[in-house]
Amino acid sequence: MACASELLTGKIEEKGLRATEARCRILELLHETHEHFTPEEMLDALRERGKPLSIATLYQNLQKLSEAGIIARFVGPDGHTRYDVNTQPHHHLVCKICGRMVDVGVKGPLAEVRPVALFPDEEQEVGAWRVEEVHLELHGVCPECQARIEREASA
Ligand SMILES: [Zn+2]
Ligand SMILES: [Zn+2]
Repeated sequence: MACASELLTGKIEEKGLRATEARCRILELLHETHEHFTPEEMLDALRERGKPLSIATLYQNLQKLSEAGIIARFVGPDGHTRYDVNTQPHHHLVCKICGRMVDVGVKGPLAEVRPVALFPDEEQEVGAWRVEEVHLELHGVCPECQARIEREASA
């Protein structure tokens, strides 16, 4: 059994899991869309792609894939559990209007992340911390929503 993409098969098998049809479908969806889906959103998206999974199979495999570190599980700004194909440290830009979530990379090694750059007022205390994990949510308005708002304002 293998995914259509060798890359994805490799990602699964290198963690000692079998590349089953369900795991391939989940990983393909996340990889191709770069969305940060809830399980419910994933069910709909998989159905729309003609590659549906039952809810039990989906949950079971999301569990396996995230335990193995192949995908990341996190709680989004709306309080829902979401899944991310990007398992590297990164931040999220969140659009307040359409809810779109976009990855922003962390530059350089984590050891060099200096909170002081973000919070210069707290230089003393924060600067002395050793950062091991970093995840910021930056809320704003995405380019598409900005353009739509401008169009509506000028109409
Ligand atoms: Zn938006
Ligand atoms: Zn992400």
